[in-house]
Amino acid sequence: MQAAADALILGAGPAGVALACRLAAQGLLVDVIAARRSPAWEGLSPRVIVGLRRAGCGAAVAAAGEPARRAAHWNGQSSTLNHEHLVERARFDAALRRDLRSAGARLTEASVASLRRVDGLWQAFDVSGAPLSRAAFLVEARGRRAPSAGVTLDNGPRTVAIARIHQGDPGPAASAAASFADGWVWMAALPDGRRLLQFVVDAALVPPRVQLSDFHASLAAAVPEAAEWIARRAPLGVATARDATAALRGGLVGADWLRIGDAAFTSDPLSGHGVHSALGSAFAAAAVISSLRAAPDALPLVQRFVEERNADLFGHAAAVGNAFYRMERRWPERLFWRERSAWPSAPSPAAASGLRRQPVVVEGRIVEREVLVTPRMPRGVLTIEGVELAPLLRLAGAHESTTELAQRVGHTPAHVGTALSWLRQNGFLHSGGGLPLV
Ligand SMILES: Cc1cc2nc3c(=O)[nH]c(=O)nc-3n(C[C@H](O)[C@H](O)[C@H](O)COP(=O)(O)OP(=O)(O)OC[C@H]3O[C@@H](n4cnc5c(N)ncnc54)[C@H](O)[C@@H]3O)c2cc1C
Repeated sequence: MQAAADALILGAGPAGVALACRLAAQGLLVDVIAARRSPAWEGLSPRVIVGLRRAGCGAAVAAAGEPARRAAHWNGQSSTLNHEHLVERARFDAALRRDLRSAGARLTEASVASLRRVDGLWQAFDVSGAPLSRAAFLVEARGRRAPSAGVTLDNGPRTVAIARIHQGDPGPAASAAASFADGWVWMAALPDGRRLLQFVVDAALVPPRVQLSDFHASLAAAVPEAAEWIARRAPLGVATARDATAALRGGLVGADWLRIGDAAFTSDPLSGHGVHSALGSAFAAAAVISSLRAAPDALPLVQRFVEERNADLFGHAAAVGNAFYRMERRWPERLFWRERSAWPSAPSPAAASGLRRQPVVVEGRIVEREVLVTPRMPRGVLTIEGVELAPLLRLAGAHESTTELAQRVGHTPAHVGTALSWLRQNGFLHSGGGLPLV
């Protein structure tokens, strides 16, 4: 049996791989166990590419290819929004696995069926009971398929995405979203002529699996933009369904385990950025693991960090989705639109500007610091150009010059100047002087 690893990560989606690369770069021995994933197409925002580069996932960046133009047909109006990178997840995830291996992590391609603690280590087993890897720290990154830890703190209306691919003549890559009476559809076209229609509907409408392809065909015929998208194209294979319900899990971290990515919280695909959020959770997880390995008594602070962070991001994604649903006003009485424009029932109130003490990541560790909260930055801002804002705000109240302030806080006048501009722009300082408003 191979040596026990420092960390065992279950799942090799964006969250598991980005974390594995981070931990391996810090010199940890990292094992990853990942099963084959179901086929899916997704659209990645340009921010995902930035995150993948930051994680050192060059093969995944290459697999994401060039961005394609994205259009929207919503509330009776059409617009060309921006661009997204269209990926087949099987290909994209294969590239992530190459990045994982290049980073020096050990990958076992297997399905984890159970976990047990043996001699103080986490041990994973396959369905036959054969032992897989073992490690001191366990990371659950099996996405929506991760077994629930038992607690769901919040969830949105039950939502299902039903997708089917059609084949036609080659053409430019493109994507579009369109609303209809019972949901919305995401449409994607790849240059090789394959086109995807993915209908997002309420779970109550979804028929048994054997009727899925007929259901998909009836939706495609009823939605003009969808019918046009696959006109003169033949279906390739059958329709498949994926759960797309937004849910926030509880019990996210312990002394030697952590849930990340979709295993911690999922958002409605309309609020987008699932992969971006998974990468963000991996970066935060690296700091969580370093902190717990260095000082196990940091657990209460780390728990606060993980739980507040996930609840804030879940609430933000829910509010973004809710705003999109409320923009569509043509079918307020239909189940799909009625339930989604009413959830969350009390969208998180916009944060008031001010100072707040909270756990943050500093130099790869979780520590408690004062941050400046604004309505646009509800998670708070610790530094601008490396200059810590809360101490600068206090000193700035004494009307010192930028040069004097720079000497006091040990940064260049240019960086301090940028931080002062940020404080002024966000209403923490009067533009003419140094009086703090909060
Ligand atoms: C319908 C739908 C459409 C979406 N569209 C988009 C989109 O367009 N853009 C976007 O950014 N996000 C989208 N998302 C969200 C995105 O898929 C996720 O947020 C993101 O993939 C989460 O990354 P992850 O690493 O946490 O989990 P995943 O990417 O789900 O990875 C989980 C990993 O765990 C492995 N695994 C699962 N079970 C086992 C097991 N038993 N043993 C071992 N390994 C296992 C899987 O093989 C996989 O490697 C969509 C989600 C849905 C449901």
